[in-house]
Amino acid sequence: MLGRTPLAAAIRALREELAGGPRADLGRDVRELEELLAQRELRRFATVRGPAEQELLAALPDAAALVSKEGWVRASNAAFDTLAATGRAAGLTPLEITRSAELHEAVRRALEGTARRLELTIQRRTYLAHLSPLLRGEVLVLLRDVTEAKRAAATRRDFVANASHELRTPISAIRAAAETLLSGAMDDATAAHGFVEIVARQADRLSRLTQDLLDLSRIESKQWTLEVAPVDAAPFARQALEPAVVAAREKGLALRSEVPEGTIVRADPRALEQVLVNLVDNAVKYTAEGSVAIRAAREGNDWIISVVDTGPGIERHHLERIFERFYRVDAGRSREAGGTGLGLAIVKHLVQGMGGEIGVESGAGGSRFWVRLPAV
Ligand code: ADP
Repeated sequence: MLGRTPLAAAIRALREELAGGPRADLGRDVRELEELLAQRELRRFATVRGPAEQELLAALPDAAALVSKEGWVRASNAAFDTLAATGRAAGLTPLEITRSAELHEAVRRALEGTARRLELTIQRRTYLAHLSPLLRGEVLVLLRDVTEAKRAAATRRDFVANASHELRTPISAIRAAAETLLSGAMDDATAAHGFVEIVARQADRLSRLTQDLLDLSRIESKQWTLEVAPVDAAPFARQALEPAVVAAREKGLALRSEVPEGTIVRADPRALEQVLVNLVDNAVKYTAEGSVAIRAAREGNDWIISVVDTGPGIERHHLERIFERFYRVDAGRSREAGGTGLGLAIVKHLVQGMGGEIGVESGAGGSRFWVRLPAV
C-alpha cells in the first residue's frame, strides 16, 4: 500500500529529497494541501487580538466571538472557546465549532448585513443566539445558554397546570353541592346534611391545598429562610406525633417515638418539626394496621432520623419520583385520605435547605422514610 496514495508518495519523495535525492514532485493534491495548511496558519496568526477587544469579549456574560469577513472566528472569549472540541475557537468556523447548520446559515446572513436572533441546540444545550453585523464587515456572535431557564419555565408551567387542576376538583365539588342544595335538597334535612358535609370536607381540602402551596412557594422563593442551629430532635419527634394521635387511635395504630433525649442535630427547629409532621401524617394515612414509629440512629457524623410504618409499602418504580410535587402512587387513595400530593415535596425542600439528605426504603413490610442531618 505504502507509496500508492499521493500523500504517501509525496512523503517518500520529500524524504528522498532531504536525504540528498532529486527535487521532489509533490503532485497537485499535495500542493493544495500545503497551501491550505499555510492558509490555516495565517488565520491563526491573524487571530492575535487587540487587548481592548479581548477585554470586551471577556467581560460579556455570554459565549461571544467575532467572526471575520471570511467566516472564521477571529477572537472569542473563554465561554465560546469551551464550545470547540479543541478548547480554542480562533481560526475555526462557527460550523466547525458547533456543527450547527442553523448557526452557520445565520452567520452567513449576518455577514451579508442582516442581524439575526434565533434559538438553537448545541451539544444538547439550548442557546439564544444574537448575531450582529459590525461596521468592519465582521459579525459579533453571542450565545446565551438558556437551558436551565427553559427547564425552569417548563417546570413552572407544569406546576401551575397541576395546581389549577388540584384546586378545581374541590371547587367543582363545592359548587355542585351548593347547586343541589339550592335546587331543593335544602328542604330535605337528611340530604341537606350530607351535602353540607361535602362542602365542609372539600373546603377543608382547599384550605390544606392552599396552605401547602403557600409553604412550597415560600420555601422555593427562599422567603422561608432556614436557620440551622443545634437542636434536640427528641421533643420535636414527640410533638410531631400529636397531630396524628386521633387518626392513629381511630385506626388502632400504635404511635411512638423512640428518639432518645440528646439526639442533637443541626437543623432549623420549625423545618424539622414540619418534616416529621408530614412524614408521620403520611405514615398514619397510608397504614391500615400495625404501628408508626420515629427512630434515630447514629451514622458517622450524622443522625439518621426515620419514620417507619407497617403500611402497604411503595413499589420500587415509584420511589424515584415520590418526592416530586403532585406525584402520587394512587391519586384516588391520596385524595380520599386528604392528601395534597405536596407533602413529600415540602419535606424534601426543607431537608435539603437544612443541608441534609432524604430517602426512602420500602417493601412488603412497610416503608421507612429517613432524614440524614449532621450530628452536633
Ligand atoms: P400526599 O398528600 O398524596 O400524601 P405526599 O407528597 O405526601 O402526597 O406523598 C406522595 C405519595 O407518596 C402519596 O400519594 C403516596 O402514594 C405515597 N406515600 C407517601 N408516604 C407513604 C407511606 N408512608 N406509605 C405508602 N405510601 C406513601
